[in-house]
Amino acid sequence: MRYNKIRKMDIANGPGIRVSVFFQGCAFHCKNCFNPDTWDFDGGSEFGDEQIEEIINLAKEDHIKGLSILGGEPMHPKNIEATTRLAKRFKEVYPNKTIWSWSGFLFDEYIKKQEVVNYIDVIVDGQFVDELRNPNLKWRGSSNQRVIDVKKSLKENKVILYEE
Ligand code: SF4
Repeated sequence: MRYNKIRKMDIANGPGIRVSVFFQGCAFHCKNCFNPDTWDFDGGSEFGDEQIEEIINLAKEDHIKGLSILGGEPMHPKNIEATTRLAKRFKEVYPNKTIWSWSGFLFDEYIKKQEVVNYIDVIVDGQFVDELRNPNLKWRGSSNQRVIDVKKSLKENKVILYEE
């Protein structure tokens, strides 16, 4: 499992100031993807316990509201084990900070069946569709994508969108 970069302070991906990690590897190859440098599963650097603890340490201050996990594709079968380990550890240490993640997979078809949903608060799902691109959308690039409240969706067994 590999990663592209870790940002100490990210104000663009989720509410408030956050730590973010961009994993490496995505098989979707959406037209005009915002981050094609992350497609190669062999690119970037190795991601392991050292990076997880670095992220935990970066998030310790009160002004850091949570962790954002992006890609690449954090939910790809090659990456999901590390995503799960990171999210689980983060929630153990910071139960009151939120975890947001972005995935090209659909929540109801794939993501909700994965262990990682137990630790994630919000998932923005769906591939980027260039024809549906809209720069005015918040947290997502194209109108097919959904900003999903994971806990409410699991409880009610249907997709509930996140409301600020
Ligand atoms: S799913 Fe995301 S990272 Fe992957 S190609 Fe599409 S926009 Fe790029």
